[in-house]
Amino acid sequence: MPRSITVIILLLSSFLLAQNIISNNFQQPALISEISEENIQWLINNLTRFQTRRAGTAECNMSVEYIYNYLDSINISVSYEYFNTPSGVLINVIAEIAGSDKKGDYVIIGAHYDSISNSGNAPGAVDNAAAVAVLMELARVLSNQSLLRSFKILFFSGEEIGRYGSLNWVNTHYDIRGNITATLILDMVAYGSSLVIDYNSLSKPLADYILERTSYKNYVSAEENNYLSDHQSFWSANIPTVLIHQNNPLDYPYCHTSEDTVDKVNFSLVVLTASTTLEAAYFLASDLSLENLYYKTNPIYPVVFITVPVVFLTSLCLLIKFKASRREIEHSSNNSRL
Ligand SMILES: [Zn+2]
Repeated sequence: MPRSITVIILLLSSFLLAQNIISNNFQQPALISEISEENIQWLINNLTRFQTRRAGTAECNMSVEYIYNYLDSINISVSYEYFNTPSGVLINVIAEIAGSDKKGDYVIIGAHYDSISNSGNAPGAVDNAAAVAVLMELARVLSNQSLLRSFKILFFSGEEIGRYGSLNWVNTHYDIRGNITATLILDMVAYGSSLVIDYNSLSKPLADYILERTSYKNYVSAEENNYLSDHQSFWSANIPTVLIHQNNPLDYPYCHTSEDTVDKVNFSLVVLTASTTLEAAYFLASDLSLENLYYKTNPIYPVVFITVPVVFLTSLCLLIKFKASRREIEHSSNNSRL
């Protein structure tokens, strides 16, 4: 019996080792090649042509209509969500792509489409037309896919005046909170040459998962920052969420000015953002073993998964030994009985 236990332990170890080796060998999803830099450029140009997207202005409302019509034209299920703020009624746009086997589980990708300026117009090219264009392009690429889980692609308003759009969404969708596999928020993804994934203690495994799978490891890193953006609304509701942004976003000299124009946009970085986000979204929506993502990397995991089998096997050995010695005693007492 102890020999068979050794064999079981060896088999189990090699299985876990093999799983580890397999899981670190990721192939880039083919649909990455469908991302079009030309389309992204066209979308950013169109979004900044409204001159300003200050929440609540007529121009901002025209831009939201533009986003809605674009999604509708590529046959995506899309709707408006209106909500009240001290600055009046604002609008979020919600796009949805249904999954196959796990329709009720969601991967969320979000970005704010409103902008702000300290003076004059707020064209908001880097903050945040580029991220909105990425979301629109990903919606196009994913529109004819049916992965395991569903996608919600969220375009928030009012981020620049108090994160109203994301707060409203989080507070009015209690029903699916428990079914959100992951949320990826994009804010300022167009200046400089590299990306950072911000995480908190809950979403650290999510950031690691994305980093492990990205094909652009030289350009993407993960940090624990505390920037103010829509991801904070999700963090406050304990929804596993990361923020994807350009490195040192506060160093962008044209942030929240009328100079945040298309000429500042590094389109290569925007395409890199689209590719990294699409890779992450693809794996998150199609990975069968994801239920354990947040559990697996919990520090308690190795303790539980080593201690439990060891305690179980030791108890089994002791029990067998105890029974064997009892049998031996009975046997010898039978023999000595006259
Ligand atoms: Zn922003």
